[in-house]
Amino acid sequence: MPELPEVETIVRGLNSMVKGLTVQRLPHVSPHLLKREPQLRQLTGDTFKSFERRGKYIIAHLKSGKRLMIHLRMSGRILVGEDQRRRDKHDHLEIVFRARRRRLVFRDVRKFGVIQFVRDGQQETLNRLGVEAPAITASQLQALVCKSKRPVKSLLLDQYVIAGLGNIYVDESLYRSGIHPLKASSSLSANEIRALTRAIRQIMALAIKNLGTTFDSYSGVNGESGRFARYLKVYNQNGSRCGKCGDVIVKIKVGGRGTHFCPTCQKHDRRW
Ligand SMILES: [Zn+2]
Repeated sequence: MPELPEVETIVRGLNSMVKGLTVQRLPHVSPHLLKREPQLRQLTGDTFKSFERRGKYIIAHLKSGKRLMIHLRMSGRILVGEDQRRRDKHDHLEIVFRARRRRLVFRDVRKFGVIQFVRDGQQETLNRLGVEAPAITASQLQALVCKSKRPVKSLLLDQYVIAGLGNIYVDESLYRSGIHPLKASSSLSANEIRALTRAIRQIMALAIKNLGTTFDSYSGVNGESGRFARYLKVYNQNGSRCGKCGDVIVKIKVGGRGTHFCPTCQKHDRRW
């Protein structure tokens, strides 16, 4: 599932390849997207002024003053290229632009992706999103964890607490800061909060620099894969040896989510 670094990469790609382009026509829109946004065809004739990211949402600012909000969910991809490719059966939206024979495709195998104009309900969702992960400070994290007895892994995944983190980068951040994923949020020490803040910021920066992580389908808008997979220390590494201590990386479930960690480097201190 695309997380913040992947969405950031896509937004940067859209700003470089689609910004300023006017929609000539929508040759194809799948019924499930029209059901979620009946007015999607109003994009015709409008111009994409700019794109920004909030959490894992892509927000397109249009010349008409409307804003389009895109969430890729499990498997959504946005591809931009020449207007001559053959349609894939998973292409659910095609936008052809007036200039430069350019075409944007929204491809989504699992069909959970959402494209909607921003109205009151969507704005409310955006307003509720938590602190942006790449910019989080130790004092912000302190204020967020101290109120919660939830496992730290679950808290970090909550988009209304911290926006943008998902399973990959939470597991990597907890490993880097030596914190057990089941540890109660409110029991984190000041040192652990500092270490976790640093880990989140470093991992976000490194992942954005490497265009995100590609396992199967994710890519930037030009089809380029993310390169962060080579930096993964625990995510999907269960059964491998920990690079710090040599113990075996294990996988457990936390709140229903597969969770990877090193039992030696991330001890579950039960003194609290
Ligand atoms: Zn270890």
